[in-house]
Amino acid sequence: MNAPANDMRRVWWMAGMRLAAWLAFAALIGLLFHRVTLALLVALAIYTAGHLFFAYQLHRWLTQARVEPRDGFGVWREIYTELFRLKQRNRRRKKRLKSIVGEFQASTAALPDGAVVIDGRGRIVWFNNAAAALLALRAGQDNGQRIVNLVRHPRFAAFLTGADQTGAPLEVPSPVNDADTLSLRIVPYGDGQRLLVARDISEQKRLESTRRDFAANASHELRTPLTVLRGYLEMMKEEAVDAGELAAWRVPIREMDAQSARMGRIIDSLLRLARLESEGLAQAQEVIDVPAMIRRLAEDFRRADEGRHEIEIDVENGLSLFGRPAEIESVISNLVANALRYTPAGGHVTVRWHGRNGAPRLAVSDDGPGIAAEHLPRLTERFYRIDPGRGASDGGTGLGLAIVKHGLEHHEAELVIDSTPGVGSTFAAVFPRQRVVADSAA
Ligand code: ADP
Repeated sequence: MNAPANDMRRVWWMAGMRLAAWLAFAALIGLLFHRVTLALLVALAIYTAGHLFFAYQLHRWLTQARVEPRDGFGVWREIYTELFRLKQRNRRRKKRLKSIVGEFQASTAALPDGAVVIDGRGRIVWFNNAAAALLALRAGQDNGQRIVNLVRHPRFAAFLTGADQTGAPLEVPSPVNDADTLSLRIVPYGDGQRLLVARDISEQKRLESTRRDFAANASHELRTPLTVLRGYLEMMKEEAVDAGELAAWRVPIREMDAQSARMGRIIDSLLRLARLESEGLAQAQEVIDVPAMIRRLAEDFRRADEGRHEIEIDVENGLSLFGRPAEIESVISNLVANALRYTPAGGHVTVRWHGRNGAPRLAVSDDGPGIAAEHLPRLTERFYRIDPGRGASDGGTGLGLAIVKHGLEHHEAELVIDSTPGVGSTFAAVFPRQRVVADSAA
């Protein structure tokens, strides 16, 4: 048996012995006065009163924080000591927990990102200083408020519940300053609780816009000198053809002309990308008769292709799309131009437009060389080419698929590339079903 249990036994044994001795003493006194029963009763009453007093003292100590424990007697001394030890231990634990909570609060308060803890019913439980500054939350007053009442943005409610399935952070104008942009993220945890993390991305946005402006301005500025150069080259080409003084220069001039034409196309593509990035979403949307657009473009391509490829179309008539016509036309043109460019003469190119499970899908397939899987994720990057040597000779700018991707993003559409080397490729744009306009008059 362990030591504390032994101690306890000894204490209670002593208490029993003391009671027995006390009663024996009382009985002896009783015998002297021939009042044994009375003496025993008085002795028991004194004994009980003593216990009652110590029990009262214990009760007072437990219920009133400021009362210090007094020394007890017998078993009571042991009980008091044990309780005192327990209380001390609790006090130390409380102090430690308090300091951990304090440290946690101080570190989260110092976080540069705003953090808001939201309960299962969308109410604010806690937020740090950065969240107060970024989201204009007021400490004290806004605790317990519904977060959707404080962060006002049309997409925020769906974003909070996770109904918005893009998985990307939500960018909203800052409630403090319209010119600033916040990026919001939701991290679900625990039982329906969520952590909202807000970050100020204004600087990043400004840098992006500077980069965009730079690309647009540089392209714009390059256009004029290039037009001058191309004008002279055109003249020289004619002279060289006439076998005049420039006859020896015929080949270099032809090469310079081809390269300057390519430069012109790159500049045009860069300008188109810049336009797509800056004003794409502001362009008006309308019902587009996609089958008619595909037929018209296919005619143009057939004419330019001069019979090198077979261009087929397979469209669902009456299936129209709500969107921006110039962007959709540029998507189709770029995909068909690529298919024709990379598929050797004699190959087939098919343009399809159908509803699949309600979602409209535009697909351009070819039976060209196909693309190895490792290139697929990078194809839409600007200037990414599988075979860098080829792009220069075949008229590509390396920007076609970047333009396609941007145009599709403006229509919440996804580009799915399916390709097998040696068999061919299919570039498909899958639009959300809300964009379908079926059985239009078109
Ligand atoms: P480019 O102007 O060079 O065609 P794109 O951005 O349009 O630039 O395409 C990027 C690269 O993807 C191309 O360089 C080419 O290697 C590859 N590619 C695009 N379409 C096809 C296709 N239909 N078949 C094979 N390769 C393709």
